[in-house]
Amino acid sequence: MNSMIAVETAKKIVQSLDFKRKKIIVALDEALGCCLSSPIVSNIDMPPFRQSAMDGYALCLHNDKHYTVVGEIQAGDAFHPILKAGEALRIFTGAAVPDTANAVVMQEKTTLEGQQICLEQQPLEGANIRPVAEQNACGSTVMQAGQILNPATIGFLAGLGVQEVEVFKPPKVAIVATGNELISAGQALQRGQIYESNSLMLKMALQQQGYKDIQTYHLKDNFDQTKKTFRKIIATNDFLIVSGGISVGDYDFVGKALIELKTKTLFYKVRQKPGKPMYLGQKDDCTIFALPGNPAASLSCFYQYVLPAFKNFEGHRHFTLPCLRLALASDYHKKGTRAQFLKACAKQHEVMILGKQSSAMLDSFVQANAFVYIPESQKFSPAASLVDVFMIPF
Ligand code: AMP
Ligand code: MG
Repeated sequence: MNSMIAVETAKKIVQSLDFKRKKIIVALDEALGCCLSSPIVSNIDMPPFRQSAMDGYALCLHNDKHYTVVGEIQAGDAFHPILKAGEALRIFTGAAVPDTANAVVMQEKTTLEGQQICLEQQPLEGANIRPVAEQNACGSTVMQAGQILNPATIGFLAGLGVQEVEVFKPPKVAIVATGNELISAGQALQRGQIYESNSLMLKMALQQQGYKDIQTYHLKDNFDQTKKTFRKIIATNDFLIVSGGISVGDYDFVGKALIELKTKTLFYKVRQKPGKPMYLGQKDDCTIFALPGNPAASLSCFYQYVLPAFKNFEGHRHFTLPCLRLALASDYHKKGTRAQFLKACAKQHEVMILGKQSSAMLDSFVQANAFVYIPESQKFSPAASLVDVFMIPF
């Protein structure tokens, strides 16, 4: 396996991953979080007709502030009367303005006197009328491939009458927790055992980002079983995320199994804390991350490398967590030479590095909303100096 690399190099490797992606058609109401694989061309003008932008009166303008009200058009009415100069129609927001009306006046700017209205002033031609195709014309491209479908983009497409979209098939993911000591909640802990938490944590982190096709597995520290399970998973998944068993212990079989399966190692070990013994590789159509078993290291590596790889899979090569430059609340002395990702609490202009940074404990993550990144070269960071802060999704 390759030698230890820098954080920046590891991130570049993640950005340059290649994926074979399949396209599928999904119903719009199933497309939340998906990534468009082809552009969307609108089949309609939007708006499709001249729309009133106000509750008021549609006018056929003449040189007098008095108009005769000759009828009414509600939103949704197909009524299309012909107005003569000096005539007005009661009209409501969203209703179709007749071709013969050339302005809409707000009702607040009129006084009604029997069948007549009197205007405060003459409106300009076109006032308060949304023109046909003001947003987009029929036949125009309204969205590019690569767009992630969120509530706003789905609402926009629904407004154009779109019922289904072509998207990249969302990744199929397997998460494998390894370790003899791990048991499931609901069982009583025996000496030497702990509750398995990484698979659920990583699954939730992916689900929060909209990924749904996720299976979790638990493997004992057994070479043959590990190799057999990995082989099956690699053949049928886009991503394999392993937790634990990637370090140098006698019972860490993940690396050995991956070597025997002839996966291509892209990196193994990053000069970072936490998360030094981290692996990235590919075999066939499957991208494989092996993360350290320590829960806080696992989650830290997830946000810095795994999530960007998933975003890259969707066509966003340069994704990172939102990054701010904030002032440190107090001095920080870095021990050792590796770069550090520190659990931290970011406020408006300041960031506080939390206590209990051990990669074995998750409790500082419970309070954290960010990571402070201290590069390899930085030994001492004085209070008030600016540091890179990566915001954790919530
Ligand atoms: P490993 O990377 O397998 O050497 O594990 C490092 C530490 O993380 C050990 O203390 C493990 O018990 C713990 N650990 C490994 N996997 C998990 C897991 N899925 N959930 C909770 N703790 C874990
Ligand atoms: Mg282990």
